[in-house]
Amino acid sequence: MQAQFPLAVETPEAALAAAPFGMFICDGNGTFQTVNAALEKLTGLSADELVGRRGFESLHDPAELARRRAELPCLAAIGARYEGEWTYRRRSGTPVRVVLALSPLSPPLPMSGAAARQPGEVLYVGVVVDMTRYAQSEARLWYLSHHDGVTRLPNQTLFTERLELTIARCQRSHSAFTVLIAELGHLRKLRDALGLHAAELVLQIVGERLRGLFPNDGTIASIGGSQFALLTNETGAAADAFAAEALGRIAEPIDYGGTALNIVASIGIVAYPDDGDDAATLMRRAGVALSAAAAVHGNAVRRFSTALEGQAARRFQIETMLREALQRQQLHLVYQPQVTLANGRIVQVETLLRWNHPQRGMISPAEFVPVAEESGLIEQIGEWVIRTACREAGKLLRQTGNLPRVAINVSPQQFQRADLFETIREALDDAALHPSYLEVEITEGALLGDTEQALHTLHALRDLGVEIAVDDFGTGYSSLAYLTRFPLNRLKIDRSFVTRMSGDPQCLALVGAIIAMAHALKLRVTAEGVETPEQAAQLQALGCDEAQGFWFSRPVTASGLRNLIGPLGAG
Ligand code: C2E
Ligand code: CA
Ligand code: CA
Repeated sequence: MQAQFPLAVETPEAALAAAPFGMFICDGNGTFQTVNAALEKLTGLSADELVGRRGFESLHDPAELARRRAELPCLAAIGARYEGEWTYRRRSGTPVRVVLALSPLSPPLPMSGAAARQPGEVLYVGVVVDMTRYAQSEARLWYLSHHDGVTRLPNQTLFTERLELTIARCQRSHSAFTVLIAELGHLRKLRDALGLHAAELVLQIVGERLRGLFPNDGTIASIGGSQFALLTNETGAAADAFAAEALGRIAEPIDYGGTALNIVASIGIVAYPDDGDDAATLMRRAGVALSAAAAVHGNAVRRFSTALEGQAARRFQIETMLREALQRQQLHLVYQPQVTLANGRIVQVETLLRWNHPQRGMISPAEFVPVAEESGLIEQIGEWVIRTACREAGKLLRQTGNLPRVAINVSPQQFQRADLFETIREALDDAALHPSYLEVEITEGALLGDTEQALHTLHALRDLGVEIAVDDFGTGYSSLAYLTRFPLNRLKIDRSFVTRMSGDPQCLALVGAIIAMAHALKLRVTAEGVETPEQAAQLQALGCDEAQGFWFSRPVTASGLRNLIGPLGAG
């Protein structure tokens, strides 16, 4: 037997001495044979006072023992184990609540150094656990595992428990409630800029403010990252009003050492029982609504709908497929000419990404680029676009001796990366392409994020000779301030203006004003989405420099472009 347990080298006394709770060994009369340090501490009595002198029953509170005598079995009657809750009296007289466990040691353990036992004499081992301390540490453990360390609010685990309880209660009473998930935007950026302390402070303050929304009932929790979950009895329009108030409280500026921090947040809403009748479904669907709200990039509230869920499922599917698209060479580029209105020449082409999925066919960039941006895949895909566009352009130049400037679309996320400039410079180098052949199209969003990083990259690109265009002008925040602050070459008027222009004189006037303003700032203007000769003529009359649209050409492949531009292209 011994050989089977080579690790059991500890003597019983050593194991007993080190135990974190009181332990003793007593003989058949209950007299202590051995006690450990924890028992001495618990009782306030030393081993000398206990061993051979007292029986274990003497530790009991006499009054309680007298009352409950029948519950404490005589040792010989104990089968495998006895366990009961009792009150002990310390030496000082203070009571202590313990759990007492007794088991016979049968056959008697050979105690090292102990005198030989009479054959048949059975020893008993007692374990005494201090319940007051145990209860405290258990409560602490429970608290720690059910609350968020930063905000001290209930965490995901506790929120789920409460949600389940609420569901059970509302199932019985046929009542409804609402769950909201609020997420703070830009918290990571804030942490990078001002440090962890600032980010934690924001979470704490927002947590406090949200807690203030619940005067008597309801539940609020920190459910990880920068998300809060709220449970309210309000439903319908009252719940919407509640969400709006929550958003308002979050948006109040936070004073951080004299700086006003403006926090944006998104809120997703689900209703019980309409949107789901179990906690997991409700939380998942609240997350779907939250993603839709977050896509707005500002303070926004969205309610869950099955249409949103369909979108979310499709987005997830696209993300999964997109991860493989690069490796499996399912992506390629097409080029759409931009024509000088005065002479009809192709001065420039815009690079547009195409995804040809073997089973699903063409998937529009309008659908997959936002997914790529959200999942972070855009950084990898964007780099591929930059390299491929430069390589194909270099080839075209060598083949035809002629090359219009090539514009590439760069997402705001790519602009947040410090290495964007290096990637572009390298791609130009590798393709032996002069930087003046390249234009970068950015959206207004890129100029609104981390302005320092964006400004740095823009200046570096301009110094290199790369041109900068603002895409979709007029659709975003339309803050004109950045037109003077950033080193830009071109404005691209969004297609929606061009479409509305013909039937809407006010819109026509607006396009005219944009063109005049751009020229005053020494920017060139390209109109997007020109589909008719009338639109082209109107734009030319307004002084627009270039135009792009189906009227001139749809996007074409690299070889299609070679045919369009090169006298040698036919070869
Ligand atoms: P965008 O940058 O505004 O690109 C112009 C879009 O308008 C293209 O759609 C183009 O095919 C379409 N278009 C051009 N002329 C006309 C016209 O006369 N009428 C109409 N109805 N549409 C016209 P596409 O290729 O589907 O791209 C959609 C969006 O996807 C782009 O909008 C851009 O935001 C994004 N995208 C495309 N390629 C890339 C890329 O390589 N990188 C990034 N970050 N985004 C890209
Ligand atoms: Ca574009
Ligand atoms: Ca555009």
